[in-house]
Amino acid sequence: MSAATKLLENRWDDSRAAAMSEPERLLYRSNLLGSDKRITNYGGGNTSTKVQQKDPLTGDEVTVLWVKGSGGDVGTMKLDGFATLYMDKLEQLRSIYRGVEQEDAMVGLLNHCTFDLNPRAASIDTSLHAYLPYRHVDHMHPDAVIAIAATRRSRELTQEIYGDEIGWLGWRRPGFELGLELSRFAAEHPNAKGVVLESHGLFTWGDTAKECYETTLDIINRAIEWFDGQLAGKTAFGGEARAPLAPDERRRIAARLMPEIRARIGQDERKIGHFDDSDAVLQFVGSHDLDALAALGTSCPDHFLRTKIRPLVLPFDGDVDAVVAGLDASIEAYRDGYRAYYERCRHDNSPAIRDPNAVIYLVPGVGMMSFAKDKATARIAAEFYVNAINVMRGASGVDVYQGLDEQEAFDIEYWLLEEAKLQRMPKPKSLAGRVAFVTGGAGGIGRATAERLLREGACVVLADIDEGALDGAKSELSKSFGADQVRGVLVNVTDEAAVAKGFVDAVAEFGGLDILVSNAGIASASPIEDTTLEVWNRNIDILATGYFLVSREAFRLFRRQKLGGAVVFIASKNGLAASAGASAYCTAKAAEIHLARCLALEGADAGIRVNTVNPDAVLRGSKIWNGEWREQRAASSKIGEDQLEEHYRARSLLKRSVFPEDIAEAVYFLASDLSAKSTGNIVNVDAGNQISFTR
Ligand code: NAD
Repeated sequence: MSAATKLLENRWDDSRAAAMSEPERLLYRSNLLGSDKRITNYGGGNTSTKVQQKDPLTGDEVTVLWVKGSGGDVGTMKLDGFATLYMDKLEQLRSIYRGVEQEDAMVGLLNHCTFDLNPRAASIDTSLHAYLPYRHVDHMHPDAVIAIAATRRSRELTQEIYGDEIGWLGWRRPGFELGLELSRFAAEHPNAKGVVLESHGLFTWGDTAKECYETTLDIINRAIEWFDGQLAGKTAFGGEARAPLAPDERRRIAARLMPEIRARIGQDERKIGHFDDSDAVLQFVGSHDLDALAALGTSCPDHFLRTKIRPLVLPFDGDVDAVVAGLDASIEAYRDGYRAYYERCRHDNSPAIRDPNAVIYLVPGVGMMSFAKDKATARIAAEFYVNAINVMRGASGVDVYQGLDEQEAFDIEYWLLEEAKLQRMPKPKSLAGRVAFVTGGAGGIGRATAERLLREGACVVLADIDEGALDGAKSELSKSFGADQVRGVLVNVTDEAAVAKGFVDAVAEFGGLDILVSNAGIASASPIEDTTLEVWNRNIDILATGYFLVSREAFRLFRRQKLGGAVVFIASKNGLAASAGASAYCTAKAAEIHLARCLALEGADAGIRVNTVNPDAVLRGSKIWNGEWREQRAASSKIGEDQLEEHYRARSLLKRSVFPEDIAEAVYFLASDLSAKSTGNIVNVDAGNQISFTR
């Protein structure tokens, strides 16, 4: 909302909309609205249309309310995201309703109004749409309107900006009672086009989908323009108290602090971090008013359900060690505050206290870190706090910003209906909350491993020297598992500085590390007389020194993070079994195996487990098997290259081929808690080969 903020653009396309059914037009409108986060935040708000449809039982024309169902996001939802309910049955609910004390019970009755056996659960906001006498209703959470709704004089400001076109209703938790209030308001103000809900958001309506959409945009744009006028020439948040550090420095400090925070808040449930140092965040965290505004808490229910009422501000004057030294006390003080809030506000039937740790951590000059059970939740919490910052900037610039009353906030946070929603969430996957760093992640085995770990809910950083392959692997895995969980870092594992930087990048992306899969590799074969020093050094550099460098970095991190750790080396059958004509490779692989055993000894006291997987003859997907190695192996066995796969299968005890997924399965076992009591082990995945039996 600085001068000349870009206004929302009308993106309604008549020719597209004309070809749509009424529900499709509702979806079109919803997706258009949700595509701009200034209109509504992720998962926030809902839309509805009342549609004439044939009743499947009677064949009669009935009015059906199509309204965004429980959960979901208007920007990305599909048609199946809408609940459908008979309007006449919803009307009957009014006569059953006995008052605000039993409004929660009305939610259960919504199921009885379901039209056409639609399995999508109706949301608590259904009655907010049902009883408005308009065909099309939008309920949005635009920063610019919430900024008005979160001021002390929000009623007067609403009147000043919109006159009688938009009404105002005082704060009330969403539910049946608010639905009736909206209905009364609309009846008493037939010319109003909508209403601002204090500390919450905006309702707008219309007789057609297009009219409703355009009204929503117009009302938000007028708020944006009004703020532009009001804030022009004013300094936000009382001005700058601390200038932002340079971008690299901010990231370095984030990578230093995040594992320390994770160490303290992730003992019961592992957390994934997200770092945001966007301009809006830096302006807020570096401002004079930071402490005062942060303490007031967020205002909109959607915001604080994701961010907790308050963030934790970590004072920082340039000395990051001092921040770390003070972390125990800061985090404990936050928890004490949260427990006291719970005790002050709890009711006899309130659900048990939840995780008392902060979600949002603000560091002046550096940025914002957020932590949650998975990356998407951490990222979305950060986005919501940016919404809250925008709201505070607007509200405090024109009036006095006010957070929501503590008891009201508690009643939403610990609402029994909210608790029921949490209880319905699926059980977390076995690697949820874990971060894995996979070297050689763009190769055959590395990529299969990444896929296996992603499938179990881990966040994965692919580290590779091959930029093209890395980009390809990252984008394909992002497509399958979502972009939140996958990152790629360009790293040469033999380069000490590059390895250190790769870990900083990984940690700044996810907040810490739990699993290292050291897998980057090459292969070479030549008789000793023909083995050049260059070839020898290359094997030692990548396979021995490279494994040392990444392990050392991971160990340093694991020790600071105090959450244990799992290291898995991908060595080779050739690390145990000598093979003629490949001494450089075999020796380096043997060094890897012994390094793993030494590290298993060193790491045990910190809960760091180190184990090895030995593959053999994994031809499919492997770049090693594309090149010279393939020719050499075929020549040394005196067979054609196309006979190699069959040759190795026949050579194995189990007479089976080994695939990258087979190696990945063993890595998953050793990286997960399934093998919590194993360290210093070697698992051969080679379809059986007597010369590599361990003893
Ligand atoms: P691959 O060539 O498909 O993958 C290896 C990856 O490591 C490649 O993406 C490559 O770019 C990367 N890499 C190479 N040098 C690097 C460096 N300096 N820094 C960062 N990344 C580097 O091969 P693969 O078959 O998937 O092999 C993975 C591991 O498994 C290797 O350590 C290999 O020795 C071992 N291994 C493979 C087989 C097999 O038959 N495929 C058998 C035994 C052991």
